[in-house]
Amino acid sequence: KAAERKHHTTATYGKYAPVEAVRGDFPILKKKINGKPLVWLDNAATTQKPFAVIDALNRYYTGYNSNVHRGAHTLARLSTEAYEAARERVRGFIGASSQEEIIFVRGTTEAINLVASSWGSINIRQGDEILLTAMEHHSNIVPWQMLMRARQAVIKVIPINARGEVMLEEYRKLLTPRTRLVSMTHVSNVLGTINPVDIMTEMAHEHGAHVMIDGAQSVPHMRVDVGRINADFYAFSGHKAYGPTGIGVLYGKRALLDKMPPWQSGGGMIKDVGFDKTTYSGLPYKFEAGTGNIADAVGLGSALEYLEKIGMDNIERHEKELTEAAMHSFSRIPGVRVIGTSPNKTSVISFTIKGVSPENAAKYLNQEGIAVRAGHHCAQPALAAYGLKSCIRASLGVYNSMEDIELLVKSVGKISRGM
Ligand code: PLP
Repeated sequence: KAAERKHHTTATYGKYAPVEAVRGDFPILKKKINGKPLVWLDNAATTQKPFAVIDALNRYYTGYNSNVHRGAHTLARLSTEAYEAARERVRGFIGASSQEEIIFVRGTTEAINLVASSWGSINIRQGDEILLTAMEHHSNIVPWQMLMRARQAVIKVIPINARGEVMLEEYRKLLTPRTRLVSMTHVSNVLGTINPVDIMTEMAHEHGAHVMIDGAQSVPHMRVDVGRINADFYAFSGHKAYGPTGIGVLYGKRALLDKMPPWQSGGGMIKDVGFDKTTYSGLPYKFEAGTGNIADAVGLGSALEYLEKIGMDNIERHEKELTEAAMHSFSRIPGVRVIGTSPNKTSVISFTIKGVSPENAAKYLNQEGIAVRAGHHCAQPALAAYGLKSCIRASLGVYNSMEDIELLVKSVGKISRGM
């Protein structure tokens, strides 16, 4: 019977489609896990791919695979056009003002490493201060720690309150004339909190500090406009936004990128090379050494086009409806503790169940076909703020339905009652 579960729901994406039609775009959702229909609630780790992306990759490899920029032949022209069209799609999607400001990287982690290495090398000196929030993913901690050690700089942590929100008054106190950079996540991958990044950016700028924003968990779930936020750098990963793995984006303001030295070097990022002197390409190629991930950049372009068709506002509304339903139901199950209870949050629901290890709970849910993640979610300091080492995380995406939530709630209820 479970296999025939219908995903009819009150939630629809406006005129585009009911959630059922969206689900039909994702072939993996037809899979059975332990004989049950797959319920994918691990979207914060990675998202499933629609036909639009799978077909784009297939078309690329069967139709016009070629290296870009270097050849004079037809396929080089076609792959170059597709690669640059994807860059333009990204530019429009996040509201950047020029393609020069869009650098293709492997993902958020690589984008942050690029900024820490390149921007950090010319901007961070002994005694300088970098501010991070207490809810950062390890990717937005460790690169700064390495820079801090190399430069004898200082990391300071902006605390969060019990609901999982940044404490703005504490942040204000931490901003000093020594603050060079504030690096923070737009949306927490554990708490779901949406940080007031525009206000925090303005406050940093008032103190002459630059701002880097980790958009790994925001870009797939809400409309993001880097121009409006006014951050100096913004990063996200393709695979969390229904695109392929191994492709991501660093946005940077042109004036800053222009001044930064290349990060990696080799082919593709040069204008002229001699043994005594090399001149570098202009933006964005200065930061794209070697053959890039052309096919997956094209796939990312298709993913963003797909999201645009559904509409980011519709996605945000749909996921909010499901999140609120889940939060409400969880609050009524004895022994379930949700962490991350800000009203201003996206579709990440982290929780513990009294007397049951998160790992065992996730195993039980897997038997029901429900994929959630258990562990520290690469944000150990955020969990430590709640006295935890591990929790269960259900994170929603564009294809999740009210039926998915009902099944999750029912199964968590059973676990809390000892199964
Ligand atoms: N930042 C946040 C908030 C994340 O959730 C993640 C992924 O889990 C990352 C950074 C790292 O992303 P990636 O592994 O795609 O580089």
